[in-house]
Amino acid sequence: MKVLVINSGSSSIKYQLIDTETRNFLAKGLVDRIGLRGSSLKQERSDGHKINLSGEIFDHQQALEYVLAGLISPNHGVIKTLDGIDAVGHRLVHGGEHFKDSVLINEDVMNVLNECIDLAPLHNPPNIKGVQAARFHLPNTPMVGVFDTAFHSKMPDYAYIYGIPYVLYKRHSIRRYGFHGTSHYYVSRRYRDLTNGNLKELKLISCHLGNGASISAIKNGYSIDTSMGFTPLEGLLMGTRSGDLDPGVANQIIAKEGLEPREISAMLNKHSGLIGISGLSSDMREIEDAMLEGNKRAELAFNVFAYRLKKYIGAYTAALGGADGIIFTGGIGENSLLVRKAVLNSLEYMGIILDHEKNEKMIRGKEGFVEAEDSKVKIAVIPTNEELVIAIDTEKITRKTLS
Ligand code: ADP
Repeated sequence: MKVLVINSGSSSIKYQLIDTETRNFLAKGLVDRIGLRGSSLKQERSDGHKINLSGEIFDHQQALEYVLAGLISPNHGVIKTLDGIDAVGHRLVHGGEHFKDSVLINEDVMNVLNECIDLAPLHNPPNIKGVQAARFHLPNTPMVGVFDTAFHSKMPDYAYIYGIPYVLYKRHSIRRYGFHGTSHYYVSRRYRDLTNGNLKELKLISCHLGNGASISAIKNGYSIDTSMGFTPLEGLLMGTRSGDLDPGVANQIIAKEGLEPREISAMLNKHSGLIGISGLSSDMREIEDAMLEGNKRAELAFNVFAYRLKKYIGAYTAALGGADGIIFTGGIGENSLLVRKAVLNSLEYMGIILDHEKNEKMIRGKEGFVEAEDSKVKIAVIPTNEELVIAIDTEKITRKTLS
């Protein structure tokens, strides 16, 4: 089956057309700066052929029109007509307590998705715009929504309930949900395959470290705890997000700086984390380069990032009752040997011993293990593939519902 996977953000659409039989992409691309000046569309076919267009792209509907035109273009495309797309899989960030699994999208689902806007005002509206645009252009093609929260939906209540009046959970669904579920799901299954293991027996800690970052404790194949919470702001330090924070800090900043709630949200989501501490960049490569050149604030940002991740690994080892494997994924997890080294340094007493030579070789999309021979805990580096999970789920649900 050929599945178009769509990840729709506020001003961008990332997409891949995936052949679920071969599990490879036929074409993938990005429409950037939708509704802003300098919009662009970049597409790459699996044979390396690229298109690069720039011009005005007004909204998500127009963006998708260009995406589809690129996919069926006689010179640059990969399918002859739009009938070549068998189904569409949408990455949806927040399913609330309604969606514990992927769903076939229909009117009822659209209504519930709209109700969930309240839970994720930053993420759900652009996701919904992507679904609406796809339904407009491909009205007869089945569509499936795959939720970032679903993999965490089996978390025990003591892991997801906040220490605030219980009535607020009942009244407004305020609890921890967790995100990046598709990535944690993919790398845990891939770890199982690489080790010929059994998910029922494996206790895993998966670290997804990209621009957004989260860590998940996985038992019986599912998340029993994760660092992101009600929103993707909680937990680890990220490129531009603060991660864990005493709410008293937000109150004090509001009082001292006279910020509005919307402004404090922007500060914590967009101007904090690596860029907030370093004053330099949200990009880990630039932080590392500056640190190696002696920039002290970049070094501090790096150290806060690594230290907090180390603390979470300790906490999740305790939550799991010991870990069999730690998995690193996402742009930083897959590539930054310095982060892996700093995070795993001095955890030998927990049976976690890094092989430095192997660690140094594991970059640029390589997959494998970097633990020393006498390490009790395996350390895996696994490039994530959220799009493949979405495509496979979309195929499964489409076939089941339409058969
Ligand atoms: P997103 O969360 O947007 O999908 P990615 O998973 O691509 O992001 O991760 C982006 C992060 O990965 C950036 O901070 C980038 O600097 C970092 N990164 C990519 N390559 C390297 C590298 N070689 N060394 C250190 N960090 C890297």
